[in-house]
Amino acid sequence: DLRVRFAPSPTGMFHVGGARSALYNWALAEQSGGTFVLRIEDTDAARNRPEWTEGIISALAWIGIHGDSPFFEGPYFQSAYEAQHREAAATLLKDGKAYHCTCTRDDVKARTGSEHQGYDGFCRDRGLTEGAVRFRTPDEGVTVVDDLVRGRVEFPNAAMEDFVIVRGDGSPLFILANVIDDVEMRISHVVRAEEHLSNTPKQQLLWEALGVTPPIWAHVPVIVNEKRQKLSKRRDKVALESYRDEGYLAEAMVNYLMLLGWGPGDDREIMPWSEMMPLFRLEDVNPSPAFFDEKKLRAFNGEYIRALPLDVFIERCEPWLDPSWDRGTFARLAGLAQTRVAVLSEITANVDFLFLDVPVHDQASWDKAMKPGAAEILAGYAERLQDVSWDPESLKTALEEVGAAHGLKLGKAQAPVRVAITGRTVGLPLFESIEVLGRERSLERLRAALA
Ligand code: GLU
Repeated sequence: DLRVRFAPSPTGMFHVGGARSALYNWALAEQSGGTFVLRIEDTDAARNRPEWTEGIISALAWIGIHGDSPFFEGPYFQSAYEAQHREAAATLLKDGKAYHCTCTRDDVKARTGSEHQGYDGFCRDRGLTEGAVRFRTPDEGVTVVDDLVRGRVEFPNAAMEDFVIVRGDGSPLFILANVIDDVEMRISHVVRAEEHLSNTPKQQLLWEALGVTPPIWAHVPVIVNEKRQKLSKRRDKVALESYRDEGYLAEAMVNYLMLLGWGPGDDREIMPWSEMMPLFRLEDVNPSPAFFDEKKLRAFNGEYIRALPLDVFIERCEPWLDPSWDRGTFARLAGLAQTRVAVLSEITANVDFLFLDVPVHDQASWDKAMKPGAAEILAGYAERLQDVSWDPESLKTALEEVGAAHGLKLGKAQAPVRVAITGRTVGLPLFESIEVLGRERSLERLRAALA
């Protein structure tokens, strides 16, 4: 039975890279009727915070990974299993596969003459009964990691030091805890970020030393920005939550994240989860770095937004509409807005002019639009608006005529009118906007702009 896990450490906002790993694991569990275990690796008490754990759980739920699914198991908390981690270390000690060590970093440095030298094995055969616990690595040969993404990766054992699995104070290290939990949870496939590949030979040796067949490994590629730098939380927008809060749709996000290192194999990129999930294969994941292209994500999101039924779109806009704004009025322009926004948060600036007493006044837009001659256009149009028939076509013809009278094409004549009506230089189609705003309020704004 396939059992995979996602094992985040709750030390910060939930990273898009983490979300991608989670989705790959989720696809494997769902397509095979297997199990996806969520394990919160919360042993770093100094860096963990409960709100990060909550953030991870809610962000996972947002992209469809949650406890209501039959494939989901957990969450488990690593800190609850410390006794098992210590017990495993005790077993390794008893079997002679690990040993106690009391060397300090300075001791090792004094003996090897270098800061960067690995541990020299000084305590290997001293038979100590206290101190940190080190795992005894083989001195010769190679440890071969068969990775479904990266192929066969060889690690010379001579370069692998006897690594610490339990600190001097008795607390187990990540490298041990992570393996013991995977063993206890009967994990069959470890699918995780490439940055853990360097831990893998050590972890594989631990599995073997415990007499258990190691899992199938798959290390998924790093994610880079447009400068080919590894995505970092200091430099890049990496928190899944920030995309959610900006109005990205979960469906678009899921679709885009799945494509960071994998593709369904034909030219199609926009594909719902239900179609993508059964096609996903670890063997098809590309080991080279995956470019997180925010522009492309935006374009995906726009496509997903346009594909929504109008009533669903209106519902999704709800968080971006002020509670006081009349929903019936919004609904009249919602269809036009739907074809124009790439992220839902853009809705606000597109329709706020309908609801504000005084439209947003952006001085730069104002100066740009209110060129010499603008006043004549505004005055002429205000004149016409008093009795023009109130539909977009007539509203447009009227402005064309006012423009023509002053030697201006419609495009030029529109600019001051748009700014006067909406406060902005870009937005929804102008004449539909005027229609919905209504005669009185439109007139008021043109006059205010002239004052
Ligand atoms: N807690 C580790 C991390 O957040 C997980 C390592 C793993 O997936 O094995 O990077």
